[in-house]
Amino acid sequence: MSAQWITILGATGSIGLSTLDVVARHPQKYNVFALTGKTKVHVLAQQCQIHRPKYAVVMDVDAAQQLEVLLVSFKVSTEILVGIDALCAVSSDSNVDIVMAAIVGAAGLVPTLAAVNANKKVLLANKESLVMAGHLFMEALKHSSGVLLPIDSEHNAIFQCLPQGKNDLSAAGVSKLLLSASGGPFRGWTAQQMEHVTPEQACAHPNWSMGNKISVDSATLMNKGLELIEACWLFDMKENQIEIVVHPQSIIHSLVQYVDGSVIAQLGNPDMRTPIAHALAWPDRIDSGVKNLDLFDISRLDFEKPNFNDFPCLELAFEAARIGLDAPATLNAANEVAVQAFLDKRIGFTQIADVVKESMSVAIFNEPESLVVVQETDLKARSLATAYISRITS
Ligand code: NAD
Ligand code: MG
Repeated sequence: MSAQWITILGATGSIGLSTLDVVARHPQKYNVFALTGKTKVHVLAQQCQIHRPKYAVVMDVDAAQQLEVLLVSFKVSTEILVGIDALCAVSSDSNVDIVMAAIVGAAGLVPTLAAVNANKKVLLANKESLVMAGHLFMEALKHSSGVLLPIDSEHNAIFQCLPQGKNDLSAAGVSKLLLSASGGPFRGWTAQQMEHVTPEQACAHPNWSMGNKISVDSATLMNKGLELIEACWLFDMKENQIEIVVHPQSIIHSLVQYVDGSVIAQLGNPDMRTPIAHALAWPDRIDSGVKNLDLFDISRLDFEKPNFNDFPCLELAFEAARIGLDAPATLNAANEVAVQAFLDKRIGFTQIADVVKESMSVAIFNEPESLVVVQETDLKARSLATAYISRITS
């Protein structure tokens, strides 16, 4: 089989770097079509020097000028494109086979949806886009000849543990999904103890090295809440068919329970190159560069129930899943604003949940029938969250 062409949206981030690491191990299998990034232009330039993509996409003219200077000095002929339309163009180009959706946050929605609509094999890391507009993705997938493969380690694990080729999971004997959670850096802490934690502490995850936004989400457990909603869409499950299992070692990435009492788990070292390699090659398997799991070295695996009281973001996400409509889009947008305010040291860590709760309590939920409605919901929730932050910080 000839090499496949891949576009990596968000190439300069944590998932983008891991994806390029796996791709570089298999030069006969994958060619890089396009790389995109918003900041870290020097990283993007180096990636272009190594991987020689046809296109590099940045989000503004300043970044494009900086990139051009670097590419000229490297003697690299990659063409530079700018803006959201360019992201959609490199996601849907007829020469592209695979799109890695690894932009963080709501900004990933439009280009990821463009890839699904263009029948690509879409590797979905950008969970926020599914949380915002799950039904639009699922509807687009029904009409697409492409596939959507989960990169989130938990969802990738569940995908690997499910019976293949069965659409109706309850008819196939699946009774429950068990979603693993590491518990984050503040596992075992009370809300009061977390009041004055800094962004540096929140971003220091015990097992995974990730971008700042998802690191903070992992610390508040909002990440697990977003993943709950993501799992509902990906596997057509209700929130009450999904249980969160805190497993601090992050070795079991998630489990599927069957009616006969069997529970199937996927295990591996906590390294995103495993789900990335799995999805890239699916239904085949390729080397990911991840070292083998040594069970004797790990020696024990622990499990706990999640603490909903001290981590209220998790309950807020369950509530959004129960409400449905555009409540998850509201939750997601308010959370993005709150996390940025925390990273900018404008609000405290425990106020992230306050901002989301307040925004959810004043929002009016609608049927998210189109992309325009979802984008309006996103904007409204951002302004509710921003207004609340102004009130509590003035
Ligand atoms: P990151 O912050 O390291 O990288 C984000 C990428 O998106 C960068 O290339 C950045 O330039 C780009 N980007 C940011 N804002 C943008 C915008 N407005 N427009 C266009 N591009 C923009 O994030 P990450 O940790 O790699 O996470 C990426 C996504 O993958 C997130 O949705 C996250 O939840 C998900 N994810 C990450 C991990 C992980 O281990 N890092 C695990 C599971 C899921
Ligand atoms: Mg995850």
